[in-house]
Amino acid sequence: EDTVARIAAGEVVERPASAVKELVENSLDAGASSIDVTVEAGGTDLVRVADDGHGMTEADLRAAVRQHTTSKISGLDDLESGVATLGFRGEALHTIGSVSRLTIQSRPQDGDGAGTELVYEGSTVESVSPTGCPAGTTVEVADLFYNTPARRKFLKTTATEFAHVNRVVTRYALANPEVAVSLTHDGREVFSTTGQGDLQAAVLAVYGREVASAMIPVDADGDELPPGPLESVAGLVSHPETNRASREYLATYVNDRAVTSDALREGVMGAYGTQLGGDRYPFVVLFHEVPGDAVDVNVHPRKREVRFDDDDAVRRQVDSAVESALLEHGL
Ligand code: ADP
Ligand code: MG
Repeated sequence: EDTVARIAAGEVVERPASAVKELVENSLDAGASSIDVTVEAGGTDLVRVADDGHGMTEADLRAAVRQHTTSKISGLDDLESGVATLGFRGEALHTIGSVSRLTIQSRPQDGDGAGTELVYEGSTVESVSPTGCPAGTTVEVADLFYNTPARRKFLKTTATEFAHVNRVVTRYALANPEVAVSLTHDGREVFSTTGQGDLQAAVLAVYGREVASAMIPVDADGDELPPGPLESVAGLVSHPETNRASREYLATYVNDRAVTSDALREGVMGAYGTQLGGDRYPFVVLFHEVPGDAVDVNVHPRKREVRFDDDDAVRRQVDSAVESALLEHGL
């Protein structure tokens, strides 16, 4: 592939965390009940995502790395709800593979016989061979940007790159408590959820006992909310006195997609009022349901930032939902 294509790839895959996001999404799409994410050097040396999803045959594998190939139907719903599909349909593996050394091992759940290993480097299939592997899929992305030195130079310290990876994996783990998600960095397990719990259990696994025990449930819909586009606001927010949090810990979702939004953030912060000192933030895991046509996604696909037609109303709705929850706890 030529330089222009590689530069374009660098725009889509900005950093290791972008690859992690795409791979974890693929694992979820494959119906995995367990997803193990392993990274080395913040993901710059290695990103490995192993799942027990439906797996791929040799033919599926060959197709998976081709450009513009997807086994997924992207209906109008997807496009209209906007937040649903970000990035490029059927492009992720191909794109990641054009700027890394990509190895995929896969074995279908329902098939018998061996699995297949495909090695892809700089947009070329280097080898395809039978291999012994568990049912499911393991994707390894090594030496990201090895062939785009300019992009590689943009990478930050290992700590910063890992912080981005951690945030991505955390958001998926919290949004999918029924999936066992683990994250390991340089041989050390950072967290692992059981896949058998609820949101509270996932928060415990990810953030630890102190935070989990300080969480207050939020659950408002219908008449409980002031007028506005949000149909429901539900999740967990932390007691105002438990706040060693920064903005990173505001995990907000719209129609089950992790997003950032000024209106959602301001709504939450408004509910706490002056109870949080200085530039402190609560721990927040909040899910919002909204009709697709009330959200504007066009903001950058990578950043997952959304705006609402009526940001003011959304702000009031979130403020009210969180404030009611805090009030119920005498706060
Ligand atoms: P998309 O997810 O938009 O279809 P990708 O490039 O991310 O595009 O993946 C291409 C195809 O490879 C998918 O449509 C899917 O069929 C297959 N695939 C990728 N990852 C997995 C996985 N972890 N398990 C099973 N199939 C996968
Ligand atoms: Mg994908």
